[in-house]
Amino acid sequence: MKDFDLSNRVAIITGGNGGIGLGMAAALARNGCGVSIWGRNTKKNDDALQKIGTGGGKVEARVCDVTDRAAIEDAFRGTLQTFGRVDGCFANAGIGGGGRRSFIDRTEEEWRQMMTTNLDGVYRVFQVAARHMVERAEKGDKFGRLVPTSSLASISGTARNEHYAITKAGLNALVRALGVELARYGITANAILPGWIKSEMTEGLFGNDKFVTNVMPRIPMRRFGEPEDFGGIAVYLMSGLSSYHTTDTFLIDGGYAVF
Ligand code: NDP
Repeated sequence: MKDFDLSNRVAIITGGNGGIGLGMAAALARNGCGVSIWGRNTKKNDDALQKIGTGGGKVEARVCDVTDRAAIEDAFRGTLQTFGRVDGCFANAGIGGGGRRSFIDRTEEEWRQMMTTNLDGVYRVFQVAARHMVERAEKGDKFGRLVPTSSLASISGTARNEHYAITKAGLNALVRALGVELARYGITANAILPGWIKSEMTEGLFGNDKFVTNVMPRIPMRRFGEPEDFGGIAVYLMSGLSSYHTTDTFLIDGGYAVF
């Protein structure tokens, strides 16, 4: 078996019907992994399945809102019915905050919506997945991967989008806690921190000439990231080669953070 042959593995990707999630889903499927993409929008789910195509691992899509625990439990049962197991959980679904505004004006509703999607959503999905992985490990099958999509904002703090940054910083702490707690079950936890990536979430920004002129010179790679740039890390983390690599945060930003 080749190092990156994932044909005996199955991964869930929340928010897998577009952007970064789809980039990861496509790469996993190309390398033989069974993939269940979860999103709220049925049409986007169907389009994503088309984009991934056939020829790699089996791929399915499920409608699931990560703010709804019952929906998550339902989707998880469905994924188990399709594949019989879940080895990896990429908690990637997230919202961006819809434009920056002062903390002084931050409403309870905006704050709660951000928490329940970006932070509580990961808690719910990981808890359901981790219970399954631990149960399997107790029967001798010690393999699990918990991978939230955090953000460069978790380090920078991001003025006027502080509620978003806080959720992502929470995910960095979560992988450190889970990586330690679950290591004895062969379960690793690592967060992915994207920089400036082209997706539906950021299309407003990338259409803005002033933003592009300001930010581009600060990216050593001299380009914005693409969803496909996240395929490599997804495949590595799902493979057996990453078994000793846990509690880490992977910055994928073309060098922006340290430039
Ligand atoms: P997209 O808007 O393209 O993707 C967001 C995904 O999340 C969609 O698939 C959407 O699916 C899903 N989603 C949103 N809310 C929910 C919900 N309540 N339940 C289930 N699914 C949901 O943006 P990106 O690909 O850019 O974002 C992916 C992740 O990357 C996010 O967590 C984001 O915070 C993070 N990130 C992105 C950066 C960037 O520059 N693009 C930078 C740093 C981090 P649907 O519409 O069907 O619900």
